[in-house]
Amino acid sequence: MRDAPAVDRIRAGQMAEPSTAGRFGGFGGRFVPESLVPACQEVERAFREAWADPRFRGQLDRLLAGYAGRPTALTPAWRLSGDLGITLLLKREDLAHTGSHKINNVLGQALLARRMGKTRLIAETGAGQHGVATATAAALLGMRATVFMGQRDIERQALNVFRMEMLGAEVVPVTSGSRTLKDSCNEAMRHWVGAVEDSYYCIGSVMGPHPYPWMVREFQRVIGDEARTQCATELPAAVPDYVVACVGGGSNAAGTFAGFVDTSARLIGVEAAGGAAMTDGAVGVLHGFRSRVLQDDQGQIAEAHSVAAGLDYPGIGPEHAHLGELGRATYVTVGDDEVVAAVHRLARSEGILCALESAHAVAWVIRAAESGELPPGATVLLTLSGRGDKDMSALMELA
Ligand SMILES: *Cc1c(COP(=O)(O)O)cnc(C)c1O
Repeated sequence: MRDAPAVDRIRAGQMAEPSTAGRFGGFGGRFVPESLVPACQEVERAFREAWADPRFRGQLDRLLAGYAGRPTALTPAWRLSGDLGITLLLKREDLAHTGSHKINNVLGQALLARRMGKTRLIAETGAGQHGVATATAAALLGMRATVFMGQRDIERQALNVFRMEMLGAEVVPVTSGSRTLKDSCNEAMRHWVGAVEDSYYCIGSVMGPHPYPWMVREFQRVIGDEARTQCATELPAAVPDYVVACVGGGSNAAGTFAGFVDTSARLIGVEAAGGAAMTDGAVGVLHGFRSRVLQDDQGQIAEAHSVAAGLDYPGIGPEHAHLGELGRATYVTVGDDEVVAAVHRLARSEGILCALESAHAVAWVIRAAESGELPPGATVLLTLSGRGDKDMSALMELA
């Protein structure tokens, strides 16, 4: 353990604003073609103004409460806690509208886009969750939505394609490269260059060029802020010993960590073993930012693989790379088998069918409690990022 004054010094100003160049330590930045710099600057300017404007904050708060269903519950997982000898609290993002935390960010960006006078949202999506959330926000605010999706993902996620179309969005197949998420990101950004006049690029996690990683974390901060207040009533010590969340790009984890970064809580991000950019990645530039990225021997971006489609992104948000380097947050991995077992265990013991992504966090808590890494009696806040409905056919095939 670090001594307390040193910890305080490191924490001062943590998870605040990045540098003017959009850097979190050596990570982040704005690595985009010259033609996109003004568009990123326009987004940054608009976000700064909006975030400081009580009217904008009020509009967003009203949508989060009256439309998305916030605040989401904090549920003590009684039976699993008893089995594991810990106190486990679940922050229930699975109860938010559209079934995950993604709606928090998308409502924020869609409101911002409208304030900027844009009439169309552009998004990329892998498994389709961010695409569905974007199509939802576009329908709500009377905007058009164009969602780029890899041809392979379109075939694997037919139901989400249909959902987006039901909501009025146009789904554009991406046939370049591996025809998955990283190619859709490239395509969406390319398309934005030619359409900035009326279109806003809505990014789905804490990634992309500045100001996106910072802005998306701020829109997801509501998870951590609510949980901080809820923990104060639920826990005698007010703050949990551990704060745990799964990490794909890292937005639900960043939003959760932001509420606890100034406390003594240990922050744990759980990656998929087959998509562990923190654990296995090297420093590189991807989709407009510098961070840790999965790469092959030649330095080419490698494919990530996970049973949870929402976690197979080869990069991680730059602020996580920074928090990891500082030692303020710790990043661990779990394998597909543990994850599937964790979905079943949570379902049977708490009556909650969670998303495969969220089950990564559950799997780590189970393993750490059973191995003694978590001391008996430890208090743990776990962000359950989404519900499992979308994963039922995949789980049926595995059963
Ligand atoms: C998209 C998604 C994730 C991964 O995204 P982050 O930006 O890392 O939060 C996790 N859980 C669910 C349910 C998702 O839909």
